[in-house]
Amino acid sequence: MRTTLQTHVRTQTVLGQMITRVADEDAYRRWAGQVERAGHCVRPIQLAGSATTVNTQTGEVEAAYSSSGEPGGVLLVACKDRRESVCPPCASRYRADAWHVFAAGVTVANGDGHSHDGHGARVANPLVLATFTAPSFGRVHAARDGGVCRMSRGGKRAGGVCEHGRPLWCLARHDARDGLVGAPLCVDCADLAGMVLFNASVGELWRRTVIYVYRALAALAPAVGGRPVGVRQIRELLRLSYVKVAEFQKRGVVHLHVLARLDGVNPDDPDAVTAAPAWAGVELLTAALQRAAARVSVELPVVDGRTAAVARWGRQLDIRPVQADEVNAARVGGYLAKYATKTVSDSVSGLPASRPPAGEAGEIGTVPEHVAALTDTVRRLARLATCRSLRLGRHVHTLGFRGHVTSKSRRYSTTFTALRQARRAWRLANRTREHDPWAQQDDGAERVIVGDWRIAGVGYRNLGDRVWAEVLGREHRQAREAQRLGLTA
Ligand SMILES: [Zn+2]
Ligand SMILES: [Zn+2]
Ligand SMILES: [Zn+2]
Repeated sequence: MRTTLQTHVRTQTVLGQMITRVADEDAYRRWAGQVERAGHCVRPIQLAGSATTVNTQTGEVEAAYSSSGEPGGVLLVACKDRRESVCPPCASRYRADAWHVFAAGVTVANGDGHSHDGHGARVANPLVLATFTAPSFGRVHAARDGGVCRMSRGGKRAGGVCEHGRPLWCLARHDARDGLVGAPLCVDCADLAGMVLFNASVGELWRRTVIYVYRALAALAPAVGGRPVGVRQIRELLRLSYVKVAEFQKRGVVHLHVLARLDGVNPDDPDAVTAAPAWAGVELLTAALQRAAARVSVELPVVDGRTAAVARWGRQLDIRPVQADEVNAARVGGYLAKYATKTVSDSVSGLPASRPPAGEAGEIGTVPEHVAALTDTVRRLARLATCRSLRLGRHVHTLGFRGHVTSKSRRYSTTFTALRQARRAWRLANRTREHDPWAQQDDGAERVIVGDWRIAGVGYRNLGDRVWAEVLGREHRQAREAQRLGLTA
């Protein structure tokens, strides 16, 4: 009864806030313009302050802007968070950017002006999509397309318990959304420390994997002039270009999706993406990745009295060749971009937040036992002297993983920076609003913007504004979709 009344009062308040926002038409229009320029971000940064544009040649102040003239005295800028669960509009923009970065690397191999072989013919460098998984850290509940979760050892339907008295089997048929999927059959048997240390080492493991790939390429390459090819020589002939995206599995460990391409090397133009030699095909790339993955390891700090522990890739290594064409560029780009906007909490529920959520605090659900045990393990290891260099204390919310979700080798494709510059240039070229403080004239003269800004807040002023921003965002997306489908002129 009380809740209904509260909801009623709150709805009234939100409606009141929404009406107040549109009461002054001019102020509303300016506010809506801000929301649009912030990409309909759901938790924009509110900036207060001023900016002055100074022509450095003449010393003249050409433009001055102050947020005091804006509705509410603040300027809204996008939060630019890549995480879908934090800000869907900003994540959507990031995903689009990521798609371009990933897809560009697929088609570059198909000849975009850089990769011609000198005779005008197009070249397609060997390209594969590989998934590097983590090894097993103990039996976990699994969704098996309607099949039984875990039979007991020896194929028996049931029977057998671990030293903690818990069954080694589970005859349930789990749905993929079942919260139990990924949880260990016995949380005390599971190697939780091993999982955390694997997550913490996966960046280094990949770095070493790349080194091992070159060693493997040298070992597997055909002899040149009757002599085997050395590692230094192979680096003068071949280059591994890649983009990788880290994804959390439900059990709480990271695996990597890697789009790997084998390029040739032009000593006169090291930045060019050139054709790989004819002997360096997709089979060589696949074999080199397999060999490297099987051999590489990273020593782990000694914890809980375990000695000689190392982090290695799991035995499951999936490598698929990718044909370098537009269709596959779109497909692979979309596949990787989807993972690039996922967060650890999309896979593992009940983790502590890395930063407090915007707006109203959500319902705090009960934390699953194994997730609580994992976060406890990260905190416990963080206090150990042997683990100090891993700085685990700062990475409790990512279960020890410290790297970037998305990263690429230098010459893989377009960078995010290049995309941002292109977008900025586009905005300058399409400048229509006198209120855009970032808009500059583009007549070649040197200018600096002298800004004095402070963050006045995060998110919208109230729930009413936030609802309006959502409505505007939806209208914007619908209009774009209609345009895409050719429904508008
Ligand atoms: Zn945002
Ligand atoms: Zn189960
Ligand atoms: Zn046990």
